[in-house]
Amino acid sequence: MNKKRLPLAAWIFAGLLVGIVAGLLLMNATVAGMEGKVFASTYIKPWGDIFLNLLKFVVVPIVLFSIAAGVISMEDIGRVSAVGGKTVVYYMCTTAFAVVLALILASIAKGAGLFVALNTTGLSYTPPEGQSIMTVIVNIFPSNAVTPLADATMLQVIVISLLVGFGVILAGERGLAAAQLIDSFNEVFMKIMGLIIKLSPIGVAFLICPVVAENGPKILQYMVAALAVAYVGYIVHALVVYSSTVKLLGGLSPLAFFRGMAPAMMMAFSSASSVGALPFNMECTERLGARREVTSFVLPLGATINMDGTAIYQGVCAVFIASAYGIDLTLGQMATIVLTATLASVGTAGVPGAGMVMLAMVLQSVNVPVEGIALVAGIDRIFDMGRTTVNITGDAACALIVSHLEDKKEARSQALLK
Ligand code: ASP
Repeated sequence: MNKKRLPLAAWIFAGLLVGIVAGLLLMNATVAGMEGKVFASTYIKPWGDIFLNLLKFVVVPIVLFSIAAGVISMEDIGRVSAVGGKTVVYYMCTTAFAVVLALILASIAKGAGLFVALNTTGLSYTPPEGQSIMTVIVNIFPSNAVTPLADATMLQVIVISLLVGFGVILAGERGLAAAQLIDSFNEVFMKIMGLIIKLSPIGVAFLICPVVAENGPKILQYMVAALAVAYVGYIVHALVVYSSTVKLLGGLSPLAFFRGMAPAMMMAFSSASSVGALPFNMECTERLGARREVTSFVLPLGATINMDGTAIYQGVCAVFIASAYGIDLTLGQMATIVLTATLASVGTAGVPGAGMVMLAMVLQSVNVPVEGIALVAGIDRIFDMGRTTVNITGDAACALIVSHLEDKKEARSQALLK
């Protein structure tokens, strides 16, 4: 990390602390004749929303142009598939591992009496329209070129930009003008993103303050066990999987990795949105040495399909909710959870709360009442902050590894040429 950049991380952290302290102070205070938490949600939250809006605004063009530019810069389709193949394999394996880890931890917690049958009468949660696995797959492919951009349907935006990138490569000479245009727009939106990033310390403070004021420590009382298990899962997964893969496959010390990732991780933690944290993730991974053409392909893809934290959360909550209903999950059901949670995390959008919606799909697959989601819905944001942090850290680890592998491949082929 260069010296000039360090203060940003420090400022974001300061923003986070200021937001938390302000939230705690507001929790029991009265401001301008209203309850502190009402004040926070009325007058503080909107400023955080403005910051999030700006991030959301810039994300569609960034994903659209940066993936297309990334594909084009790889020049031949064989290379795109090589990078894409490694990326998808890493994403799927780490996500499946994450669910297995979550199920093991949750079962231990259950065995230790932390997850117990609760009084579930009166629980109600109306699940959103059920999504079958096939629907998730079909919905990846857009039926028109504009709606996905307008609605920020990220998986579809990714497909569009991949196709545009492939088209430009295949068009050869005649695709050159499009390639330059895409490259130029990519630069323009990167600059806009840079401006928005400068606002982040303030944005973070405004985002976190109402969350703390609203939830406070008391809300954690009953759910503390489930939360703790999920957070242990998040931390173990990050420390074991990312440290080891970054070290072994990426040639980077875990300490340097986590230190370099701190700004993006704090952003993910406070915004609970992988997509929102994407610009930060790109900056941090590039500063850690990842190649631009790899980050611009791997990270937007990861922010959309790779959600290890979400998978951990879904595994833990499935066991927690099943226990609350007095249901013991069989090994077969656990295997089903591994499969559906891995797929559900692919279908989860990188925005706050999306993982909870997809939890319904996981619960349905093993016949656990979806109403149980009400047990964790109240504190979803706290689960979400942790899971989003893990989600984007996994994307970054993958970008650094793929970049390192590409470096090695290039060095090998250059050695052969000599
Ligand atoms: N908020 C998460 C993310 O953006 C998705 C989720 O809700 O699990 O990565």
